[in-house]
Amino acid sequence: MRYIFITGGVVSSLGKGIVAASLGKLLQARGHHITLQKFDPYLNVDPGTLNPYEHGEVFVTHDGAETDLDLGHYERFLGIQTSRDHNVTTGKIYQTLIERERKGDYLGKTVQIIPHVTDEIKRRFTLLSQKESYDIVITELGGTVGDIESLPYIEAARQLHYELGPTRVLFIHLTLIVYLEATQELKTKPTQHSVRELQRSGVQPDVLICRTPKPLSREVRSKIALLTNVPRNAVIQALDLPTIYEVPFQLRKEKLDEVILRKFRLPVRAEPDLTRWEAFLRGLHQPMHTVRIALIGKYVELHDAYKSIQEALIHAGGWQAVQIDLLWIHSQELTQENIARRLRDVQGILVAPGFGERGIEGKITAIRYARERGIPFLGICLGMQVAVIEFARHVLGWSEAHSTEMNPHTPYPVIDLMPEQRHQRQKGGTMRLGAYPCAIEPDTLAWEIYQKPLVHERHRHRYELNNTYRKDLEAAGLKVSGIYPEKNLAEIIELPSHPFFIGVQFHPEFQSRVEEPHPLFRAFVEAASQHS
Ligand code: GLN
Repeated sequence: MRYIFITGGVVSSLGKGIVAASLGKLLQARGHHITLQKFDPYLNVDPGTLNPYEHGEVFVTHDGAETDLDLGHYERFLGIQTSRDHNVTTGKIYQTLIERERKGDYLGKTVQIIPHVTDEIKRRFTLLSQKESYDIVITELGGTVGDIESLPYIEAARQLHYELGPTRVLFIHLTLIVYLEATQELKTKPTQHSVRELQRSGVQPDVLICRTPKPLSREVRSKIALLTNVPRNAVIQALDLPTIYEVPFQLRKEKLDEVILRKFRLPVRAEPDLTRWEAFLRGLHQPMHTVRIALIGKYVELHDAYKSIQEALIHAGGWQAVQIDLLWIHSQELTQENIARRLRDVQGILVAPGFGERGIEGKITAIRYARERGIPFLGICLGMQVAVIEFARHVLGWSEAHSTEMNPHTPYPVIDLMPEQRHQRQKGGTMRLGAYPCAIEPDTLAWEIYQKPLVHERHRHRYELNNTYRKDLEAAGLKVSGIYPEKNLAEIIELPSHPFFIGVQFHPEFQSRVEEPHPLFRAFVEAASQHS
């Protein structure tokens, strides 16, 4: 078992998650059994209760954990499944320790950051490899080196390196090379300082990955190497690229995977097999045409809030050689008056997941437009619920139909809480979360898309289509084409009278992969390309 730790220096948002996922992909493509995990230094137990503006999307794992969006990159790049053990926060670490302390596990002892917090971090670093025999576990440490809250993680990783030795634990430091426009020079000083900071904590990086807007010259590389104690061949350049999906190839060109394998004393055989990935990239780079899709949500200012949806559309597009022209629309801005203008020229309408009242009426207006004009429509989670509300209001004529999330007193609660959610007071981790089975009705659009009777999709919501109204909805032409059999809950709705109108209570975007696009997104993009 071997461990790679990836730290970040100088500034945040350097793309540590993408670099980690790309390295993981390269090693996996050489036949190694790889997994990746993320450690976040904040005190929330998980990001489930955070606002998307604050944190971006919450990625939901198969086993129902609400996690950091970097786990999405790991799953998409490697085609693996992560779990609740793949994302650890300081909140989780302290929760464990405090519970143990209250139970009396430390009777008579002072509980301290060193050794108790660091020991618990080390236990979690190696937990995945105790459950499955991975060749290499890659751990991304969130935050930036120098942050007070990151210190225990760096100390724990240092200890693991000391205990297992340099052929089993490696450190990669991702850093920024600054370009000064005025003098047209690349500046390495911030990198030197952030490496110093790491060294002060007793960690010598084995590899430096340098984000840079301009290529690093031989001299610059040598200078960085000399001043940071990192061998020259391990000073890796990471240029800004037009798409994240080229990052594995760039790192490959820099021989990052070989450097790593050599340091681990593992054989370097042939080349990594990236055939499928290359096929996807070809479609991405040489699209035959463009498809314009409107993504309607309420956090659109921050594209990270819809990360998985965006990537799932790109996967589907790449495999069909279709370029996705994504039009981000704030649902709050949509009205009956401007809808035709705002949605002019769009070939597909996707209404995003979300919580709360804000922007709901705009979503209803957009869905009505898609339904009446025959424009391909995909509604995800809240997007599906709003499609049901729109249908109840404008087809059944129940003008006050709503979800009890937005209007607890609506006379037509077509979307409502399940009894088990009604008495739930605790907010964290209490939604319907993770993968549930969904039985697909034959002779439906859903069947055409999935081509099988049973699928598993991931959930994150409290409200459900209210079965009291299902008969009326179905009699008026709304088909429930997927159900969760155990509880007879509607999972998929569609309109057979429409060319492509489908809403799903789950989040298909969490299961789209670079090498295996999700059938629902594939079908949606296909329908949109055919719509003129
Ligand atoms: N707010 C809705 C619910 O809780 C939908 C959630 C979502 O879109 N993820 O059921």
